[in-house]
This record gives sequence, C-alpha cells and structure tokens, in this order.
Amino acid sequence: MEKKAFQAESQRLLDLMINSIYTHKEIFLRELISNASDAVDKLAYKALTDDQVGLNRSDFKITLTPDQIKRTLTISDNGIGMTKEELEQNLGTIAKSGSLQFKQDMAAKDEGKGKSDVDIIGQFGVGFYSAFMVADEVTVTSRAYGSEEAWRWTSDGKDGYTMEPCEKDTVGTDIVLHIKANTEDDHYDEYLEQYRLSDLVKKYSDYIHYPIVMLMHKSRQKPRPEDAGEDYKPEWEDYDEWQTLNSMVPLWQRPKSEVKEEEYNQFYKEKYGDWEDPLRVVHVSAEGAVEYKAMLYIPAHAPFDFYSRDYQKGLQLYSSGVLIMDQCADLLPDHFRFVKGVVDSQDFSLNISREMLQHTRQLKVIAGNLEKKIKAELLKLQKDEREKYEQFWKAFGMQIKYGILADYGAHKELLKDLLLFWSSKEGKMVTLAEYQSRMAEDQKFIYFAAGESVEKIAQLPQTERIRDKGYEILYLTDEPDEFVMNLLGELDGKAFKSVSDSDALPESEEEKAQAEKKAEENKDVLDFVKETLGDKIKEARISKILKTGAVCMTADGPVTLEMEKYFRRVDP
Ligand code: ADP
Ligand code: MG
Repeated sequence: MEKKAFQAESQRLLDLMINSIYTHKEIFLRELISNASDAVDKLAYKALTDDQVGLNRSDFKITLTPDQIKRTLTISDNGIGMTKEELEQNLGTIAKSGSLQFKQDMAAKDEGKGKSDVDIIGQFGVGFYSAFMVADEVTVTSRAYGSEEAWRWTSDGKDGYTMEPCEKDTVGTDIVLHIKANTEDDHYDEYLEQYRLSDLVKKYSDYIHYPIVMLMHKSRQKPRPEDAGEDYKPEWEDYDEWQTLNSMVPLWQRPKSEVKEEEYNQFYKEKYGDWEDPLRVVHVSAEGAVEYKAMLYIPAHAPFDFYSRDYQKGLQLYSSGVLIMDQCADLLPDHFRFVKGVVDSQDFSLNISREMLQHTRQLKVIAGNLEKKIKAELLKLQKDEREKYEQFWKAFGMQIKYGILADYGAHKELLKDLLLFWSSKEGKMVTLAEYQSRMAEDQKFIYFAAGESVEKIAQLPQTERIRDKGYEILYLTDEPDEFVMNLLGELDGKAFKSVSDSDALPESEEEKAQAEKKAEENKDVLDFVKETLGDKIKEARISKILKTGAVCMTADGPVTLEMEKYFRRVDP
C-alpha cells in the first residue's frame, strides 16, 4: 500500500476546517451529494451518445446508507467514477476551481478585518474536504467508466492518504465516512440517523435532479385479520422501504413565487464557488415561439480571472432537466459574459451535437431574449438600487465599455444606457440620461474631460470656463472612455465634446474678432514660446478655453491628449 502526503495547501485548508468551531458541519452532505450529482451528470451525458454506457436516465441515482453499528455513512453514485490518477489528483490536492479561489479570498479577508475563517467556510462549496468535519476516516472506492480496475483511497485527513487496488463490480464511486465519536461539545451521531439525513437532503439538495435514495427503516400497523374478534389489538411490524428523499425539481423549474431568495443564493454560491451572494437573480419562464426557463445571476464581484484569457463565458444548457452542455457560450453576448446561470428548454433534443446546436434557431432566439432581460434587469438595478448598481459597475463597467467598442459599435445602442461617468456637478457617478436631463437650454454639447483621476481632472484649467457657464462635465478616468465617447459621437443630436477642444464653447463674431486681435498683439510671446519649444509643440496660440489658468496643452485633431498618451503606452 502506498502512503502519500497531502500537498501543503490542502493540509492548511483541512486543518482549518476540521479544527474550526464551525457549527454548520452538516454541509458536508450537500458537498458530497453535489459531487455525486456532477459525476452522474457526466456519465448521463456520455450515455446520450454512447450506447456502451448501458444505462438509461432513470437508472442513475445517489444512495445514502447509514450504519449505526459500524458508525459509517456511505454515499454512493453510479456516475463516471475516478481512475487511480484522478483519485490522487482530485482528492490529494485542492484542485483548481472553487477551492483555490476560496483560499485566496479567505487570505485576503484574513488580512483585512481578521474576519473569522469560520463564517466563510459555510457560505459556499468547500468540496470534498468538508467530509473531514464529521469523519475521522474517509474511504473512497471508485471505478472509472471505461476501466476494469477499481481503486481505494483512504485518509484520516491528518497526514496524507493511502491508495490500494480493490474490487468493484460497477462503475461509480462509494464514499464511506467513518463518523467521529461525540464529544462534550460536538455531536456527530445525528449524521447516522435516517430522519436527520433525510431532512438535510430536503434542506440542501432537494433540487438535485437524480433521485437521492435511502433504505428507510419504518414500522406500520399490520392489516387487521378478517377473523379478528372484538378484543383485537392492532399489531405493528417493522419493514424497510426505499425512499426518494429529494423532490428533484430543479430550482429554475419552480414558480418564481415559490423560491426563496435564500435558495437562489445558496444555489449560486454552491454551483459557482462564490462566497458572496449575487447582486441580482433573473428568473425567466418564457412561453411562446420558444419555451424555456432561465435562471441568471449577476455576480457581486468579478472572478479573479475575469479580465484574463482564462475566463470562459457560458450558461449551462439543459433539456427538460438533463444537462446537455456545460458551458454554452452562444447563449451570452461578450458584453454580458459575467452572467452565470442555466437555461432549460425542452425544445432541444437530448443528443444534439455542439455543432448543430450553434445553428439552431431556438438558441439564437433565447440568446436574444436573455440579452434584453439582462439589460432590463441592470436598468432596474440602476434605478432602484443605485448602490448595488455602482457595485456592479465597479466590477463589470469595463466590460460594458469594451462592449460598446467591440464590433465597430454594433452594440452601442443597447449598452449606452448602462454607462456611468463621474459628474463635475453631482460629485458622483451619473448616467448619460441623467446628464441630459440637467442640460442647460443653451448648451450645445455634452462635455467631457479625460485624465488620470477625478482630482487631477478637476484641476485642468480647460474645465474652468465650462463649469463657470454652469455646464456639467463628465470626468473620464478609464482608458477606453474617450474611445467610447468618440464611438457614441452624439446623443439625441448633442455631440460629445472634449473640454480641450478649441470650439468647446461656441463664440460670437465679436468674440472671434477680439481673439484675433489678441493674437496679433501677442505675436512676440507666441513666437517666443514656439521657438523655445521647437518640435515639441505644433503651434502656440492664444487660448479661448482658459479662464484663470495661464496655459494648457491641447491636442490637434480628433485624437485627444489622453488618447495620445494611451497610444504611446500600448505602442511606444
Ligand atoms: P469541486 O466539486 O468544486 O470540483 P470538490 O473538492 O468537491 O471540488 O471535488 C474535487 C473533484 O473530485 C471533483 O471536481 C471531481 O473531479 C472529483 N470527485 C469528487 N467526488 C466525486 C465523485 N463522487 N465521482 C467522481 N468524481 C468525484
Ligand atoms: Mg464539489
């Protein structure tokens, strides 16, 4: 038998969980059932296209078997199973996904407020390792689909694990937890009790769409014999009966009015490995040309890899509760790639290929509808819960701006209402519509000024005259902002205008003449400046855009100074 040590980081998480005074130890069951369900999903998906699997959809299940004498609880599934390598990889280390992210975020929170690790653990999926919160030994016996051999992984959760070959007749995984003995403070016996387990399944795993079954020990009254006399006393008998513990109705199939916010959030956190509740849930039940249900989430913060190549957008696609595609990218436009969730439509056949799927009309219709729904929901948030919307904007505003710039502005009409910029007048973030509603009668342009920060922009001499007029200026501090303004061009006939443009404030004939005269008079100074700076500037001229400021730099042509800086950075 081989004995191997856990990876250092796994060890740390283990210690943390086991030794925490964590009160919600019960979530271990939810975690193991969720893994079993994922494994079954994978094999069920294979079975759609591969006759070799030999199982029908109705054959898949997850079985719970408590044994009070041996003090064991077994969670079995007939899913895809794990090979020897997979057992070591998946259970010997804290793999990618939720767990690692969790660790990082936890470290970040630790530094911050010294918030206890303990709360955070309970808030989202911590995975397989949670088994060690209630077990002093865990044995995983697994046979992978397509493999003849089975392997057994055993660990006490303290110093590593052992691997040995073993026998297993069917494909799938059995996880045997040896439940800890009660201590004065902690009670573990309950995890061997049928009714407690049944309650836990109802509480956390009700929507799992494979049956979670348990052989329940029950008693009933014996039928009254026909010849029973007056003095017959009812007799009782014990019997065992398989019972399905979950209702198997996925959350998104239930009517909106019957789903509690708590349930939506729980589902989200567990499924997508987030520790924070989503900002918003959109639950759609569409009827008509294409019938579907969708449950979409707008996360409260960007995943750590969101602005990298690693991040992949997509929604899970189900057909009547059966997963047919894990990450369907075509359901989401790039500008809303932060959205997570599921779509379920019986209009898709179960064994449709990915290539075919992309070309179906239904998929396009659904994607189009979802795009509208997401926008409407964001607008609602913007209107009703501004703080939350600003949080959204902080996380994903950059994505919306890129969305405007993408595809030569094809999505600008859809996305422009979502934009927020800092307002000189309001001292906070405002929408373009809000800006428009405050525009002065005589105001010709929608003004903006670009710079590194709000503070720096506020000090730009070019902004003074415009603010004096009582006009509002949008302060642009992000790199794509000016490109966004350029691309939008105008809004209801009012052009976007940089405060640095020489025609930022329209002038009368009289003003024009005056300016020309001034230039004549000061020709010597201007020549001197130009001579001194040489090629560094194109020309020195009397500015029309300054008030108390002495000088300012402006760009020549449509490319502003900030944009020039940007181009120089990206392409020096
Ligand atoms: P996560 O579910 O977030 O990936 P877990 O710690 O819960 O993290 O599980 C780690 C991995 O172990 C899973 O991704 C899966 O590959 C594997 N695994 C766990 N339980 C099972 C199971 N019952 N059948 C097959 N694979 C499993
Ligand atoms: Mg898991």
